[in-house]
Amino acid sequence: EQALARVARGGSRPAVLFLDLDDFKTVNDGLGHAAGDRLLVEVAERLASGMREGDTLARMGGDEFAVIVEGAGDAGTAIEIAQRVRARLGQPFRHAGKEVFVHASVGVAVATRSDDRAGALLRSADAAMYTAKTRGKDRVEVYAPVMHDTALRRLALKADLERALERGELSVAYQPIVTLADPRVLGAEALLRWRHPSRGEVAPPEFIPLAEETGLIVPIGRWVLETATRAAAAWPVDGTPARLSVNVSARQLLEPEFVTSVAASLAASGLPAERLVLELTESILIGGAEPVAATLARLRELGVRLAIDDFGTGFSSLSYLSRLPIDILKVDRAFVTDLDTNRGPAVVEAVVRLAQSLGIRPVAEGIETVEQLAALRDLGVPVGQGFLFSRAVSATELGKLLGRPPTPWHSLDRPVRPRIARSAVVLPPAASA
Ligand code: C2E
Ligand code: MG
Ligand code: MG
Repeated sequence: EQALARVARGGSRPAVLFLDLDDFKTVNDGLGHAAGDRLLVEVAERLASGMREGDTLARMGGDEFAVIVEGAGDAGTAIEIAQRVRARLGQPFRHAGKEVFVHASVGVAVATRSDDRAGALLRSADAAMYTAKTRGKDRVEVYAPVMHDTALRRLALKADLERALERGELSVAYQPIVTLADPRVLGAEALLRWRHPSRGEVAPPEFIPLAEETGLIVPIGRWVLETATRAAAAWPVDGTPARLSVNVSARQLLEPEFVTSVAASLAASGLPAERLVLELTESILIGGAEPVAATLARLRELGVRLAIDDFGTGFSSLSYLSRLPIDILKVDRAFVTDLDTNRGPAVVEAVVRLAQSLGIRPVAEGIETVEQLAALRDLGVPVGQGFLFSRAVSATELGKLLGRPPTPWHSLDRPVRPRIARSAVVLPPAASA
């Protein structure tokens, strides 16, 4: 309020940075709260060192910090400070002889008028920070008025999500996972769906983070596991029994009851453990946290397979790949999309070779075109999923597709050639593999 008052007396307008550490809950749960506290102190020191004399730094609570940039005038100075602070945080922290990476999402808001209220300015910076989270984290975003609507929608959705499960608004859809050489449906990935009574279908990337923030992901995730294992146990077995993949959030994995609930779902459904794959994101594995490693080992003892989801998009080091019992590596859709660029194929090839040399099975995500399929076959990727084959379907539908080519499959009967000449996916003359 003092900074705003100075504007009324002819000073330049202040800006506020709102900063929230990315996935800090995971760091905290994984390394222990004492280590988490020490890390927060170090973060605060680095933030302070990136600021200008006379600016104000505050801890708003938990892993949230805010900075008042006095007399910023426009967003420029504030963005500069935000980027500097982000760069300082980008340097690894040391914990128990290991490197720990902490990143932050930063929102910037500049006071627009002298009659701005301090509370409104902070809320704008918070909304911009949230936008930075949804646009991929570890970045800086400047407030724009539409973010305000987004923030309101988020609050409303969060409240509605509380009741979604009991009101029967959630369902599970199953995206076929297929062999690439001769497309046949091997199994499926369970994907959560939310049909909101007035807003219609809400996408998982929008509501899953809300469920994670509120902790609702724990009961919801348990329900997904129960529902999907029951569905998969009813799928016809002719030929190789189908595998079911289920996504698991960090919050779920860190629950003391998690392994027990997986075992209970398997027992109740009758699905053999070897047919269940749990998909974990890389951020869970940071720093090789002991409790996580122990949980993974217990899951493996149950007979469950473990997959790393969205591989290559997180910030963890690769060292966990050799230390943790990972069976499957899901190559992120971004790499598959990049197959159309110059260096894309080389990156995918490196990832695939890395997996293969560690005895880990690569699975490609987000295959949308026959060109991508051809390139992946050339690189020796055995299995994948994507809209080219099928979107997620109902459990019954999936049961019918098992062991068959996903319909309609005629498009692959013709030889596959690059669609555009500039494409860097160079295929040998008879590349239909
Ligand atoms: P994911 O685990 O990487 O799942 C794959 C996502 O990619 C799905 O999005 C799927 O519909 C989409 N996808 C598949 N093929 C293609 C393609 O060819 N092109 C494009 N553009 N997209 C494709 P969806 O269903 O929106 O889910 C998004 C994310 O939400 C999932 O990413 C997963 O991280 C999370 N999620 C979904 N269901 C659950 C759940 O039950 N529990 C938890 N914890 N997370 C879930
Ligand atoms: Mg997944
Ligand atoms: Mg994925």
